[in-house]
Amino acid sequence: MKLPGLFQFRILKEVVRAIVKGPYTTKFPFKPYQPIERFRGKPEFNENECVGCGACAEVCPVGCIELVDEVSDNSGFREVIQHYDECIFCGQCEANCITTKGIKLNNEYDLALFDRKEAYTSIKKELLICEHCGAVIGARDHLSFLANKLGPLAYSNFPLILTAQKELKLVKEEVLEEVPSEIFPYLRRPDTFRILCPKCRREVLLSISKK
Ligand code: SF4
Ligand code: SF4
Repeated sequence: MKLPGLFQFRILKEVVRAIVKGPYTTKFPFKPYQPIERFRGKPEFNENECVGCGACAEVCPVGCIELVDEVSDNSGFREVIQHYDECIFCGQCEANCITTKGIKLNNEYDLALFDRKEAYTSIKKELLICEHCGAVIGARDHLSFLANKLGPLAYSNFPLILTAQKELKLVKEEVLEEVPSEIFPYLRRPDTFRILCPKCRREVLLSISKK
């Protein structure tokens, strides 16, 4: 009689182990599954830590994070939307978040839905708008974050100074709104102290240099 080879012995060993210990696979969905410690599940934003910069959308390899800016009457909001039905759970958004805590992959794994349109998570951030042309400068929280990060260096950039000073309650929102705007639409030197986009700021600086 031909004796079993090494390969058959290995299979027999596996069969005996499976009979004694039970199958290796989990019993989900009949029993809840306990994810391992570093499991990468559903990405979730943190309202207090996300500054709406959009770095996560830039690095997402499948492009499932989008930024939607809504602007009306010189104010607006940015919605950062993560579509987890397209997510590959790579963790790049979490690894490259500028605040390190704005988005985290949690332990949620059972993400099945009947309607894929509902498979998203989002966060809204107030936008900073150019007071002259209405262009979007960025999320207000993002500029505050940069001002804090730069420290005294932020004082070379007016939108950063004004954003930081408003946060410290050194400048009141109403006061800035009440600044007479009869110089508009012509940008002049006093407009240096307004919230302006890079294009309009260049016009202000050029108007100063022409004098
Ligand atoms: S985990 Fe990867 S695929 Fe999913 S949102 Fe983050 S970067 Fe995009
Ligand atoms: S702060 Fe982090 S989570 Fe928020 S938009 Fe920027 S990179 Fe994305």
